[in-house]
Amino acid sequence: MHYWEPEIEARPRADLEKLQAQRLQATVAQAAKSPYYSRLLKERNLTPAHFRSPADIARLPFTTKDDLRASFPYGFMAVPVKETVRLHCSSGTTGNPTVIFHNRHDLQSWANLVARSMFAAGARPDDVFQNICGYGLFTGGLGFQYGAECLGCLTIPAGAGNSRRQIKLMQDFGTSVIHAIPSYLPRLREEFAELGLVPEKDTKLRIILTGAEPHSEETRQRLQELFKCKAFNSYGLSEMNGPGVAFECEQQSGLHLWEDCFLMEIINPQTLEPVPPGEIGELVLTTLDREAMPILRYRTRDLTRLLPGDCPCGRTHRRIDRITGRSDDMFIIKGCNVFPVQIEKVLMRVPQVGSDWLIILDTVNGTDEIIVQVEVQADGFKGDLQLLEALRRKITHEVRDEILVTPVVQLVEPGSLPRSEGKAKRVDERRKGRGA
Ligand code: ADP
Ligand code: ZN
Repeated sequence: MHYWEPEIEARPRADLEKLQAQRLQATVAQAAKSPYYSRLLKERNLTPAHFRSPADIARLPFTTKDDLRASFPYGFMAVPVKETVRLHCSSGTTGNPTVIFHNRHDLQSWANLVARSMFAAGARPDDVFQNICGYGLFTGGLGFQYGAECLGCLTIPAGAGNSRRQIKLMQDFGTSVIHAIPSYLPRLREEFAELGLVPEKDTKLRIILTGAEPHSEETRQRLQELFKCKAFNSYGLSEMNGPGVAFECEQQSGLHLWEDCFLMEIINPQTLEPVPPGEIGELVLTTLDREAMPILRYRTRDLTRLLPGDCPCGRTHRRIDRITGRSDDMFIIKGCNVFPVQIEKVLMRVPQVGSDWLIILDTVNGTDEIIVQVEVQADGFKGDLQLLEALRRKITHEVRDEILVTPVVQLVEPGSLPRSEGKAKRVDERRKGRGA
């Protein structure tokens, strides 16, 4: 058995699109029960009958995070409160959080998607799964908890932080699969080193699932090297449940977006027109299997592209490339557009670079500067000053080649940069009149 749900995952495209069309119509009918969409559909004289094929989605305007915020808390709710059973909020990385409500059906559908995703990455019911991330309103906690239980794994709700305890749990219960955000994993590995342990000998770890933050292929390579096992990219957002929207299969070549449950578009964020297939644009998603709070044409602000061709795994759901970042992650320095992940990519290629790094944008003597603070590996810092200077120069040149601006690189001691328990904050905007 290669799939969790063969009849859905390997369904011929034409049948999959038929299912999407049916579900789109049902979703629009359901959305019409919410105050927000009922008004919107009336204003445009649209009824569910206007939605006969996936392409008909273009009749609708986009929904943005601001729309969700403006209708906080119940404007998008399509069922009475008494029929809902849980709410989640987004992490609030970019402002006020948004709230999403679920009924029983929604939670079952979500858990199934996470189980399907974990299975695609190679997890099986006999795995012991440790979920190393914040529980509570953040969807990575309960989302993976119920998904892994649905798959049938013994599931350890370990929560975030406390690396020593994480390692003890891994050893005590024979953890073979973990989920954690990418910025935390190098720190977990540091703790192994401090205890004189190595994951490949002292644990049964075989699969890492990681997501919630943009990270480059270079970071994946580094994580695989650090833990001597495979790492898979997990994509999701609270507005579309959370984890389980798109996931890498064992091929590790792009993330299958589960098209039976989400209708995908990729648009040019300026013109709002679809980009030609294969070009980078903003991912726009419509829920196709949600009852309590359907969302139509949601602008995720996440940038990606459609990958061409079929995946050797045989799944027919199309693949997206790893997320480059959010459109609002981009900063402009000396006239150049830069995404933090470009700098991360360069740093992760340098073996002496340690667990953390921080970009500071500042005005120095009237000009904008980009300062990149980089933690060095513990043994690297014992090295002589000349070696450190050579390393600093090498990083400066490589970052410059990537972003076309010369940064001020500062090497700092391991563990000296601020660490957060949730998503890492990689950019510190100190320029006058910008940032928060
Ligand atoms: P917030 O939007 O406040 O961060 P969420 O917890 O809902 O709240 O986070 C979802 C966002 O996290 C996505 O829109 C995306 O920007 C980011 N994200 C999630 N998974 C990945 C991933 N695998 N790669 C890159 N970014 C990701
Ligand atoms: Zn595949």
